[in-house]
Amino acid sequence: MKRRVGGLETEFGLVCVRADGSRALEPEAAARELFRPVVAMGRSSNVFLRNAARLYLDVGSHPEYATAECDDWWELVAQDRAGERIFADLTTQANERLAADGQDARIHLLKNNVDSAGNAFGSHENYLVDRRGEFTRLPRFLLPFLVTRQIVTGAGGVAAPADDEDGAQFVFSRRSDHMWEAVSSATTRTRPIINTRDEPHGDPTRFRRLHVIVGDSTMSEVSTYLRFATTDLVLRAIESGRTLPELALHDDISTIRAVARDLTGREPIALANGGTTSAVEVQQRWLDATATLVEDGDRRDREVLETWQKAIDAVATGDRSWAATHLDWAIKERLFGQVTERRGVGLGDSSIERLDLAYHDIDPGQSVFQALQRRELAPSQLSEQRIEAARETAPRTTRAHLRGQVVTAAQEHGVDHVVDWTTFRLTRPGAMPVQVLDPFATSLPTVDALLEEIRSLGGARSAGGTGVPGAGAQQPPAV
Ligand code: ATP
Ligand code: MG
Ligand code: MG
Repeated sequence: MKRRVGGLETEFGLVCVRADGSRALEPEAAARELFRPVVAMGRSSNVFLRNAARLYLDVGSHPEYATAECDDWWELVAQDRAGERIFADLTTQANERLAADGQDARIHLLKNNVDSAGNAFGSHENYLVDRRGEFTRLPRFLLPFLVTRQIVTGAGGVAAPADDEDGAQFVFSRRSDHMWEAVSSATTRTRPIINTRDEPHGDPTRFRRLHVIVGDSTMSEVSTYLRFATTDLVLRAIESGRTLPELALHDDISTIRAVARDLTGREPIALANGGTTSAVEVQQRWLDATATLVEDGDRRDREVLETWQKAIDAVATGDRSWAATHLDWAIKERLFGQVTERRGVGLGDSSIERLDLAYHDIDPGQSVFQALQRRELAPSQLSEQRIEAARETAPRTTRAHLRGQVVTAAQEHGVDHVVDWTTFRLTRPGAMPVQVLDPFATSLPTVDALLEEIRSLGGARSAGGTGVPGAGAQQPPAV
């Protein structure tokens, strides 16, 4: 599949604390406060926005933003960043209400994966794959790539050493300790690397949706971009029918934990068929295998390969000069190193845990990551205009364009509607649902007719001043 649709779901951590740092509101109450404008407007805590993304509150009080379907990975990063800003605005509004109410309470929304109690939550990547492409064949090749991908795209952090001794060490990814299975259809109970639940959100005879749940939430646009761009290249190599690196691992789960702790990327890891490899070698073998697919003139793919190579080299050579300002794990490694040295404390110090949380805080006034961006110590790859535009504008080259048009028109004309990934419907007697089962569709007569109907039904009514950027009056989507 040369063109592929993908989307990123981000669950946010939520805490509500007093000025002295103690817990103010329980997560459930804080989430209710956060979603107040969403519920007031959409009569639901589960809405689709003008940019065709889904904003919702799932069980467990982790607010979630799922980007619309993208077929360009920089567009996906822009849509993801737009989601951060939408939630940052909701957080600011909630905090203003709490302050006006005289409450000593401040909500923080964290784009991370592990809370202080050790609970993990996710950042799920979705990739469209062909149903005929032998889905069952994918894990054999994908798993070694995904288990070692953290040396490129991990968010970094601090964890206990492998030998259960006291102390703390820097790791590529803390999420690695929370993965319990390689492949399964469950998402929460056993938390697999690849989730096989078969919900294609498209024509089930043609498509499957590959659900990768091993990734860290990434703040760096380069890290997020590399997650999708390298995985897409690997999928293309698998789909190409060419000879592929045979690197099935002896034990995916013990390996993912060991790789997280090996900052050299060189420690031997056991292969299923005997022999050993290393994290650096697995990544390099996949880079080389995908490089043969890329045409010289394909600027985008060449850029992916070059950036991926720089990331691998940062581990292989130990020279972090590029990585330390581009990749989350290396930005954090440097930051934590500077802070522990300056303060004379170890990585296990509680100030480092607070710093890690603040790195992932999405409030512009609190975010350590954004402070580093302002000092050019973290990348700002996308322009302000592009991120701002993505708050209101759906990707134009996928089905998201149609959903964005429907939501926008329905909001502007004050027409109640229900949408989900594949279906758009007006909530009025006799209204027929319009189905869009092709994730690549960008124009359809049935959607044109629906837009016409919306315009004819509504007197123009703006959705302005709602407090929910891009969200409008709608019934709970049937999901
Ligand atoms: P849940 O998270 O509630 O368990 P879910 O996995 O279906 O359900 P959503 O949160 O609704 O997830 O997000 C679905 C994600 O899949 C979105 O980011 C969306 O852009 C993406 N997506 C939708 N259709 C496709 C498709 N056909 N192929 C790949 N990705 C898709
Ligand atoms: Mg989801
Ligand atoms: Mg999901």
